[in-house]
Amino acid sequence: MTHVLIVGAGVAGPVLSMALERVGIESSVFERDPAGAEQRGSWLSFQANGMDALRAIDAAGPVEKLGYPNDAISFVNGKGRLLGRMPTAARRPDGQESLVMPRAALYAALGELARERGARVTYGKQLVGATSVGGGVRARFADGTTATGDLLVGCDGIHSPVRTIIDPRATRPRYVPVLNVGGYIPDFTVEVPPKEFRMQFGTRCFFAWMPTPDGGTVWFANPPMAREPERGVLSGKSDAEWRRWLHELMSGDVGPAHEIIDAAPGPLLGWATYDMPVVEHWHNNRNMIIIGDAAHATAPSAGQGASMALEDAVVLAKCLRDCPDVPAAFSTFEALRRERVEKIVKHGHRSSNSKAAGPVVRVVRDLMLPIMFGRAAKDDGDSMMWLQGHHIDFDEPVTPLAR
Ligand SMILES: Cc1cc2nc3c(=O)[nH]c(=O)nc-3n(C[C@H](O)[C@H](O)[C@H](O)COP(=O)(O)OP(=O)(O)OC[C@H]3O[C@@H](n4cnc5c(N)ncnc54)[C@H](O)[C@@H]3O)c2cc1C
Repeated sequence: MTHVLIVGAGVAGPVLSMALERVGIESSVFERDPAGAEQRGSWLSFQANGMDALRAIDAAGPVEKLGYPNDAISFVNGKGRLLGRMPTAARRPDGQESLVMPRAALYAALGELARERGARVTYGKQLVGATSVGGGVRARFADGTTATGDLLVGCDGIHSPVRTIIDPRATRPRYVPVLNVGGYIPDFTVEVPPKEFRMQFGTRCFFAWMPTPDGGTVWFANPPMAREPERGVLSGKSDAEWRRWLHELMSGDVGPAHEIIDAAPGPLLGWATYDMPVVEHWHNNRNMIIIGDAAHATAPSAGQGASMALEDAVVLAKCLRDCPDVPAAFSTFEALRRERVEKIVKHGHRSSNSKAAGPVVRVVRDLMLPIMFGRAAKDDGDSMMWLQGHHIDFDEPVTPLAR
């Protein structure tokens, strides 16, 4: 029986393991971090196509319970003027909505479900190298141990070591000039209709808030930072420094940002954000491939990174099931996925840059956005059907790419 070594137990890793099990392929998952270290911070927008991918392998149940539905986004400028309102996502025929959920809870739920279904996940195993041996591949870990399998799949995130093993000249992650900070405030209400995320193009900072049905508020801010912060700079910032900085950035803007900054439970933490421009080689044609963020990370503003990683995991399992050999499975996977994911990376990059706009761009943006949102509201999200309307039928066979 084929044995797959999966590197990384974030979003794609556990789901790939479950999908492979369904097609009769054994796997072992190796995760760098210790068990229970799922504190990946922040909240994420989990869009309907991600849930669809989970549903394809009957894994949606635990994730559906995690989040709060979000069906509209409204935008205001620094003066509080409404620039527009539009649906968060395309309205799918199955009624699946987009959710907002803690990133850590998503990781924990997927890991737990995979383990319940028999996945072998070993924590504290940092991959440091991999080589082809005989008909398979040998992985080396930082603790000096090795593991051997027929294939190796890098689900190891944006800073993927597997990407560099496949192609030492692979592109590096691209810094996106806005940071991420945010969370959830219990017993704190904001005046926004239910299920609506209000997003403010503040004068100096993008800031967003959404009421939750339990009387709380989810919020995030994207402080601009033109240059990539050196290692340790963000983690070295104290809670008080974050709050002071956010107050400064939002000063003069109309809205609840200052109350949110004061009420947010601490300590506040911030993340630098990255995406991946085009990664030329996703696989080595033989026995190693990357999926998820390792192959095509999108900036968080697209709200799609997790969903894309899940789609990849399920589609790769189908390709391995239906293609005559591994090289055919890898090229078929790439043919099915590349155009879609690269379109989303471009979309995410554009929206991140608009959050860090200078004064001139701000004026143009405030004039243009109402027209764009008007159009988006009129088509009621239909133009986004290619994105959130994506559906995977797990039983439908994949047509192998002709070679
Ligand atoms: C602040 C922030 C906000 C975000 N917001 C959103 C959002 O709103 N919506 C959305 O869909 N996405 C969002 N994302 C992106 C989303 O989290 C990722 O797209 C998604 O997690 C990708 O899944 P993955 O499995 O490919 O990689 P990851 O989830 O990053 O998992 C990679 C795993 O590999 C492990 N690993 C790394 N190196 C090694 C090694 N050498 N050996 C073994 N294991 C290793 C890591 O520890 C990790 O567990 C956000 C990300 C950030 C940082």
